[in-house]
Amino acid sequence: MKKRGRNPNRGKLTSRASKVTADLKKPIPLRKLVQKYGVSKQALNQFIKARKIKRPFIPKPNHVTTCRLCRQITKAASKPGAEFLALPTVMKQVGCVFSKTKDRREFRDHLRRLKHAKIVSPLFGRIIGKHYEGAFQDYFKLRIPVTHIGRKHGIANLLSVIERYKRKGFKLPPPLFKYDGDARRARLRERRNAGKRAKVKLKSLADRFRP
Ligand SMILES: [Zn+2]
Repeated sequence: MKKRGRNPNRGKLTSRASKVTADLKKPIPLRKLVQKYGVSKQALNQFIKARKIKRPFIPKPNHVTTCRLCRQITKAASKPGAEFLALPTVMKQVGCVFSKTKDRREFRDHLRRLKHAKIVSPLFGRIIGKHYEGAFQDYFKLRIPVTHIGRKHGIANLLSVIERYKRKGFKLPPPLFKYDGDARRARLRERRNAGKRAKVKLKSLADRFRP
């Protein structure tokens, strides 16, 4: 049964030739025009050939916007602080398993496309070790000496690691812990004096027990 109010020209091209020609000269995908005019793709192609219409160049749909994994990676990478997450973590967020070689390869390939298209930050997915991720999270949050944070995560010199990542372009703020030079010197002096006092005490003890 025909629908009421249906375009009577639907399915016909010649009666709307100038409009069809104009549309064909625009970068509109052929399948869209198939829908619009209610004709077959073949009919449109014949029309193009018969009227010698030059179709414009239509770029192929972009992989990075149509691919499911690329969209998931883009979403994960757009979260604040995402570049400070370790690779196993970001892979898990998009349903890939770091320990699977196949997953790692797939993730890397799609991430490369996204970085090439400048959709994802070049810093995203650069941190490999989970211990660095933990150390950076603590560095942002904890007001304790950086060496303590490093020790907690088994990193010998976290300060130099931080400097290295800064050189790579990571935006790392100064540590929350404020190093007080005077207090540090006073502590060292106290320790030295304590050592001296202990020696003196030992000497006096030794003197007392001298025969
Ligand atoms: Zn992809």
